[in-house]
Amino acid sequence: MIVGVPKEVKNHEYRVGLTPDLVSELKRWGHDILVERKAGEAIGFMDEHYVMAGASMVDCPKDVFAQADMVVKVKEPQPEECMMLRSGQTLFTYLHLAPDLNQTQALIQSNAICIAYETVTSANGRLPLLAPMSEVAGRMSVQAAAHHLEKSNGGRALLLAGVPGVSAANVVILGAGVVGSSALQMAVGLGSHVTILDKNIDRLRELDAIYGNRINTLYSSMADIERSVLSADVVIGSVLVPGGSAPKLVTRKMVSEMKPGSVIVDVAIDQGGCFETSHPTTHQEPTYQIDDVIHYCVANMPGAVARTSTMALTNATAPFILELANRGVHQALKANHHLLNGLNVYQGNVTCEAVARAHGLDY
Ligand code: NAD
Repeated sequence: MIVGVPKEVKNHEYRVGLTPDLVSELKRWGHDILVERKAGEAIGFMDEHYVMAGASMVDCPKDVFAQADMVVKVKEPQPEECMMLRSGQTLFTYLHLAPDLNQTQALIQSNAICIAYETVTSANGRLPLLAPMSEVAGRMSVQAAAHHLEKSNGGRALLLAGVPGVSAANVVILGAGVVGSSALQMAVGLGSHVTILDKNIDRLRELDAIYGNRINTLYSSMADIERSVLSADVVIGSVLVPGGSAPKLVTRKMVSEMKPGSVIVDVAIDQGGCFETSHPTTHQEPTYQIDDVIHYCVANMPGAVARTSTMALTNATAPFILELANRGVHQALKANHHLLNGLNVYQGNVTCEAVARAHGLDY
């Protein structure tokens, strides 16, 4: 199979669909790989690394889309990329089609086979190609909070860990899934006092078994959310209701009563956010203040650490890319229902129920 990797074109997107190591793995299985020049340059994967791994470099995305049987990307295809997709060609990337009718229509029109990372499943019912980015964002959320707690960055002039004789900062984490538990690991590691809330008591039991009385676990009732938020120096929002918008757990009134200079990191902002006062921000301007509370609401946090994110993502995508290439796309989809769950658009038809429902399309 010919596998193609175009350079990402979305604004400030530096991740890349294949690392040189994954190129050599595909080569070992007898596949040909086309990589657009400079596709990984921004994060230190240079053209010569791809060539040494066995890839052929091409000058422009058109060359990739014109020749590849399967195009492997990171971000959803931009309109100019959708135009280049060919009938019967396979696209494997994040798509996030439910909120994006234009892209959905463009992919239907392309007649291509479009498999979305975010709906591929695993045997334990999880989303294995979403998890690595949640791990990155969860860990980053504590770094972002520590940075913005500093006085020169507008914060409460606090060190997360405190020092002997001075209390550590209070970190509250709403949601104990992949983002929340990754944030927890960092916050505990940095020596802060952590309270983590979730509706899922089994999840809280698991964390209690790991951390014992180094953390405080609470069932996520409105009363406990309010009490925790009002005493917090940092609140990290990491709840998810699969397929739905994030519930607004922290009201505008609670934010107005938080300590001045405290920091909110709303990781769930890509699903609308779990604070009434949140709106999406970018890495160029990551924060804004409401009632003297700093809000960090960057919707693509992993983009800031694109090299780590690329390696984490490709560790997870590698087995699926190899399966698609080795078996052929149709056989791989037939043989692996977790991969089939990733199929969102198949040659002119929407094949993902949630996407079809979101746009009122036939499924
Ligand atoms: P997850 O499914 O692993 O965890 C979500 C947790 O929220 C679950 O444990 C669930 O029980 C809990 N929850 C649901 N409702 C709750 C409530 N009312 N109170 C408390 N907890 C509740 O999801 P995840 O992978 O951790 O992702 C969390 C969010 O972070 C998602 O919206 C995801 O898209 C987002 N995310 C954002 C970025 C970014 O760059 N901003 C990056 C990665 C993930």
